[in-house]
Parts: sequence; structure tokens; C-alpha cells
Amino acid sequence: MGIAELWFTEKQTPDLAISTKIKRIYVQEKTEIQELAMVETEAFGNMLILDGIIMTTERDEFVYHEMMAHPALVTHPNPEQVLVVGGGDGGVIREILKHPKVKKATLVDIDGKVIEYSKKYLPTIACKLDDPRVEVLVKDGFLHIHESKNLYDVILADTTDPIGQAARLFTRGFYHGIYEALREDGLFVAQTEDPWFNAELIARIHRDVKDAFPIVRHFWANVPTYPTGMWTFTMGSKKYDPLEVDISKIPDLDTKYYTPQIHQAAFVLPKFVADIVKD
Ligand code: SAM
Repeated sequence: MGIAELWFTEKQTPDLAISTKIKRIYVQEKTEIQELAMVETEAFGNMLILDGIIMTTERDEFVYHEMMAHPALVTHPNPEQVLVVGGGDGGVIREILKHPKVKKATLVDIDGKVIEYSKKYLPTIACKLDDPRVEVLVKDGFLHIHESKNLYDVILADTTDPIGQAARLFTRGFYHGIYEALREDGLFVAQTEDPWFNAELIARIHRDVKDAFPIVRHFWANVPTYPTGMWTFTMGSKKYDPLEVDISKIPDLDTKYYTPQIHQAAFVLPKFVADIVKD
């Protein structure tokens, strides 16, 4: 009888799951906010899991974190003040700091334990959370947004899925709050799930963001450990259009997924996805 194998399974929908073989369990803890696990996997290195859902892994995190940050920070010509709602693993912050025009990046995550354990077990992702340009707040991002008026050039909503404490971060009220928290030419990007099992959600987000912003764009990337591997992002912008960026002027950002060509290609939606967000 061989040594028993240990597998982690995420039920991505009631009828679909992803499993990954576990080498080691570092942390399994109920924080004040959620169930938190940090494990080492055979296929993806260290992995952060919240409420049984894969958040980020050492191996594929760069795709998501680069695409959360760079389309927004390349589209805005002068992104000095940037806010991240969620993002406690620090990956989006790491990418934001690759832009020299950023004077301050504020991270607001509701769970300080995510930040603490990411620093310890995801050092390549959380590596910039102590940078002098970064301010870390442990509080509800929904409240922070509604306390902030005309403060930010770019806001990035790197939140868990629309359940529990994150549910209201996918609502019309949140997007209108973001509008008020942004400066007059600001823009935001939110992670907006997969188009295979969340088409209605994406269609509703499109309507809600369009209700607040004159420019709404959707883009996507391949994230192997997220449901279906096809992940979408939604941008709402008061003035600048990502499709009008001169990609020849995009600097080398020391990335592994995002490139000037990807900036253009990511906004090209397969027909079944374009149909979801058709006006
Ligand atoms: N990339 C992941 C995804 O797409 O699902 C998100 C990763 S990040 C770890 C998600 C973070 O959102 C978590 O650290 C969680 O604590 C935070 N979060 C959830 N609800 C929040 C809220 N209302 N305010 C601030 N942070 C919140």
C-alpha cells in the first residue's frame, strides 16, 4: 500500500470541480472573516485558498496580477494615486509599483491574516507590501470607497467572488461609489469572473458600470487555476479609452504575460463573450 495521496478539490460550480495534489499544508485557520488555507501543491507551488476557493498560486499568479494592473495603469496617463480593494496577497501591488508615475498605492483588505500569511508563504507575490509607496489598511473596501471622494486616479478591485463579505463589491452601489472616489479623469478595473458560468453576472456588471461610466470595456486572460481558466476583467473609465492607447509607447514593464500586443488582444472578445456584454 503506497503512501496515501492528499488532494485539494475546489467545487467551482455545483457540478464542476478542480483538484490539485497537495505536498504540504502550512496553514488552515478560520480568521475573523473567512476560512484561510495556505498549502504547497505539486503542480502550482504554494497556493492561497479562501473559503475553499483558489485565490492565487506561485506558478500562475503573474497572469492575473499583471492583467489587473497594467491595462489600467497604461491607459491612465498619470496614475499617481492608486487604490486596491482586496488584493491582500500583494500581487497587484507588486505590479502597480512597476509604474514610476505611481506616487502612492493604497491596499484595503478586510482580512489582515491574508496579508500576514501571504508575506510568509507567498514571498514572490507579497514582496512589495512593505514598499514606502504602499499604505496597507485592514478594513472593508465597500466602506472605504464610500468614505473616499475624488481621491484616486485608478482603483483596482481584486476581490474574492461575489459571495459573503465581497458580494456588495459587485453591485451598482459599489460602482457608483468608485465613480465618486475617482478623480475627474479616473478609471477602475474589477475582476469579473468567468463567462462560462457567470454570463448573467457579467451582463449585469456591464449594465451597472455603464450606468456610472461613459466608457466600459471588458478584457480577458487565461488563469489556469480559476474556474474554466478563462477570466474576465471590466474597466469603467471617465475619460480614457484603453482601445485608444498607442501601444508603441508602452514601456517594458518586466512582465511575463502582459505585452503591448496583449494590451490590444485582451480586449478582443470571443463572440459568445461579446454577446454577453452587447448593449
Ligand atoms: N484573485 C482573486 C480572485 O480573483 O478571486 C482575489 C485574491 S485576493 C486574496 C481577494 C481578497 O479580497 C481577499 O484577501 C479578501 O480578504 C478580500 N476581500 C473580500 N471582501 C472584501 C471587502 N469587502 N473589502 C476588502 N477586501 C475584501
